[in-house]
Amino acid sequence: MSEQNAAPAATIEQDTVISLVDMNKWYGDFHVLKNINLNVQRGERIVICGPSGSGKSTMIRCINQLEEHQTGSILVNGQELTSNTKALERVRKDVGMCFQHFNLFPHMTILENLILAPIWVRKMPRKAAIELAMNYLERVNIAEQSEKYPGQLSGGQQQRVAIARSLCMAPKVMLFDEPTSALDPEMIKEVLDVMEELANDGMTMLCVTHEMGFAKSVADRVIFMDGGEIVEENEPDAFFNNPQMDRTQLFLSQIL
Ligand code: ADP
Ligand code: MG
Repeated sequence: MSEQNAAPAATIEQDTVISLVDMNKWYGDFHVLKNINLNVQRGERIVICGPSGSGKSTMIRCINQLEEHQTGSILVNGQELTSNTKALERVRKDVGMCFQHFNLFPHMTILENLILAPIWVRKMPRKAAIELAMNYLERVNIAEQSEKYPGQLSGGQQQRVAIARSLCMAPKVMLFDEPTSALDPEMIKEVLDVMEELANDGMTMLCVTHEMGFAKSVADRVIFMDGGEIVEENEPDAFFNNPQMDRTQLFLSQIL
């Protein structure tokens, strides 16, 4: 059989990276997450939006086990999150996280911030960790700042460093929780651009953000939360142009 006639390559299997099944969480008596069901496929880009207090951060933090859920299950790469420490460590290595506040170590240079976890958690030799770190700093256009301290950088630059630092751990999925909401307007774009590049490279991403331009151009799916529930989810076009639920319409009318 000639090469042209060879069977087509198998279609790329879309596997599930994150799966939340009937997940509930309470803070004391307060039911903060109600029966959450969510599947994230490899390579999918999901934007989560919703009013303040709707449970977005709590959900993201449960996926990274910074918070514990009480009922239902959360699976990351098929591995169920339980309080088993070994499993937890494995899951955390696969999940990169980027917060509103960058949480860089102020007394360490940018490069030192980046190589810390690869050396101590991934057990990389220092030289290889530096090479890896410089590579990612270049990708977020900040390599020339590697010897500076976080306080010497702008907020936008620090957030790009924080993203590069997560990437050094070779995560299979990146979680973002309002990564631009603490930034001055002129710095928002430089961070969104880095996130968009990451999306174009095929990273699986779950982003809590109110940057609806980003949602429209990057997201495969937009999820709207209110009162601890996923109220509505759809492709960006349908979500923005034809929201189904009153609560979604009200939210969009307030932010767009
Ligand atoms: P969002 O990120 O959508 O603004 P959060 O997930 O931060 O919402 O919070 C959801 C709800 O849970 C809010 O009512 C908030 O006050 C409450 N909450 C958040 N963290 C805690 C906590 N540690 N203890 C008790 N209540 C909390
Ligand atoms: Mg939040």
